[in-house]
Amino acid sequence: MALYADLHRHLGGALHPRIIYKFLQLQDHAVLNYFPDYEGFYMWFTRQCKTLTEFVKIHTLVEELQSAKHLPYFCKRLCRGAYTFENLQYLELRYNPYFRTDHSQPPERRVELMQEIIEIISANVRPADYPITVKQILCLDRRLPQHLNEAILKVAKDNLGPVVGIDLAGPEIDPEKYDVWVNLLRKARSDGLKTTCHLGETSADNVHPDYFSVLDRIGHGIHIPLSRPDLLKEVAKRQITLEVCPTSYLQTGVIKDLSELKVVFERCKEYGVAIAICTDNPGRNPAPCTLPGEYERLIDHDVIDFADLPQLQTEGFRSAFGFVGQR
Ligand SMILES: [Zn+2]
Repeated sequence: MALYADLHRHLGGALHPRIIYKFLQLQDHAVLNYFPDYEGFYMWFTRQCKTLTEFVKIHTLVEELQSAKHLPYFCKRLCRGAYTFENLQYLELRYNPYFRTDHSQPPERRVELMQEIIEIISANVRPADYPITVKQILCLDRRLPQHLNEAILKVAKDNLGPVVGIDLAGPEIDPEKYDVWVNLLRKARSDGLKTTCHLGETSADNVHPDYFSVLDRIGHGIHIPLSRPDLLKEVAKRQITLEVCPTSYLQTGVIKDLSELKVVFERCKEYGVAIAICTDNPGRNPAPCTLPGEYERLIDHDVIDFADLPQLQTEGFRSAFGFVGQR
């Protein structure tokens, strides 16, 4: 049995909508007033959005459900599904620890509570029956003030081991502030953390070459080969891997058809830029929302050739931040 690695998956978008719906029922959650049956919820949860901003709104709802009290419920189920239905051997799960702390608390207290969130997740992503290795990437967020992002960076450093890297997430706003993010990512690297960053997802506007000196991988980055192929040489030289999440771009309105990704894979191959195929938010995609499903869809849409697959699957392990051991 082939085993796979997924390097880009958000905790907030990792769970099958059925699991979220059952959880809402257990909680007798108010959102069920809008969705008395599962089909309605499923259609809303997995619908294609016009923009990334619209997509992120639903993500926020799930983040609030994933509080300290309920994280064990979600962690266990996502490991179980990833191992059983996707044959994942290794998974890097990313999330913003601040957004999962108690929203009724003042910011200073929420900063303290981030440590507890990481400990709960670390303890619950090692289910005895499903021997998948899960490492954590903590997300900074473009919408948060700098001192909170610095606090996230600190708690990541304090938890090196279970936490292997830092990401920059949130809507692609304020491209002119690139130096703020580059400095934080540089600091993360000097703290021993690996780095990735959501960049070049909806356009190339926020892609500044200064990022390349502080990044190990780029989350998406598809607009580099699409609109700024002149930058690919530098990306290759720095050995930065692109995390490409095909179905996600349909869901966030970035592309209309998967065949548009053909040029991404062709140009990266031409310049020697590595790609790892990932899922981003598989629970928000219409079924089958799995990593093997992404491989199959790319072949089906003639984006890649079947013969390209072993190399792309190997890249999932080679570009991992915390994979030790053997495939
Ligand atoms: Zn993402």
